[in-house]
Amino acid sequence: MKKWLLGKSLDELKEVAVNMSLPAFSAKQLAEWLYKKNCKDVLQMTNLSKVNREVLSEQFTVGGFTPEKVTISSDGTKKYLFPSICGTPVEAVMIPDDDRATLCVSSQAGCKMGCKFCMTGRIGFKGNLTTGEIISQFLNVEESDKLTNAVFMGMGEPLDNFKAVTEAIEILTADWGFAWSPKRITVSSIGVHQPLMEFLEKSKCHLAISLHNPFDQERLEFMPMQKAWPISETVEMIRRFDFTGQRRVSFEYIMFDGWNDSKRHADGLIRMLKGLECRVNLIRFHQIPDFPFRPTPVGKIELFRDRLNKAGLISTIRASRGEDIMAACGMLSGKNLKLSGNNGE
Ligand code: SF4
Repeated sequence: MKKWLLGKSLDELKEVAVNMSLPAFSAKQLAEWLYKKNCKDVLQMTNLSKVNREVLSEQFTVGGFTPEKVTISSDGTKKYLFPSICGTPVEAVMIPDDDRATLCVSSQAGCKMGCKFCMTGRIGFKGNLTTGEIISQFLNVEESDKLTNAVFMGMGEPLDNFKAVTEAIEILTADWGFAWSPKRITVSSIGVHQPLMEFLEKSKCHLAISLHNPFDQERLEFMPMQKAWPISETVEMIRRFDFTGQRRVSFEYIMFDGWNDSKRHADGLIRMLKGLECRVNLIRFHQIPDFPFRPTPVGKIELFRDRLNKAGLISTIRASRGEDIMAACGMLSGKNLKLSGNNGE
């Protein structure tokens, strides 16, 4: 089977060049074809000699995976279903918003974190995506050359596939890669402590933490990994870093009717995040099958938001995008499900 060139760093491409007796400058040319020109065929890399192209194409493939299916929401959000090397399909979601086009990218097939409100968690863990598979999502959506931002909020826990996610971020931000500013990238996590620490120390990308309940014991009811990485300790870890400059930390707070939407919860959240430069994104819970909780009514979410803002904790209600095509937060399952009553394809 041919190996993937996609996902290789400049140093790794240099190794390929050396091993195949290509001139040293070929590595940069390869990076340009892969990450700037989105080349889908080694034989089209016309500034490499014909002989070298043929030698390369015998061993390597480029281009990554093309989507098996694209589903379009009535709000313009697009969900892409991609195959994966491990065999379990994964999804990426493109969210248009005025002049922005954000790609919500997957880092794993399934997830081992088991959050009870999440469709991806229900699948269980099927495999880590490779660096190439993560980058492939960027290069194979129809809006590939229009993407302005990326959020690692698709399927999987990004910090549980830390090496590949870090390598993908390097490709996205390096001059020889996509040359994006790290400010265009947000990594979302439930707070896996050891890689989180490394991420905070080494990366300049934004961080989003899935908080959902400020009380350790209550959070455990919906998020089993709370036991290993209590949210109170996660927040203390984050406090050691500076978010007063260009780098941002935000806290995601999905609101479940009667579980985490009371005045007591708002006050707990205010206490927990006091003095930290951050913002809270309130998200209406998107119902999934066989989970008994309902979304908090909009009026109650607004009261919750106002209480946080009054206490100086910047808080906004995140607009739901792609709910009709099961592309909204917590709904990705890799099964191309769609809510009935709408067909935006
Ligand atoms: S919410 Fe995130 S971490 Fe939790 S199960 Fe779903 S994908 Fe995994």
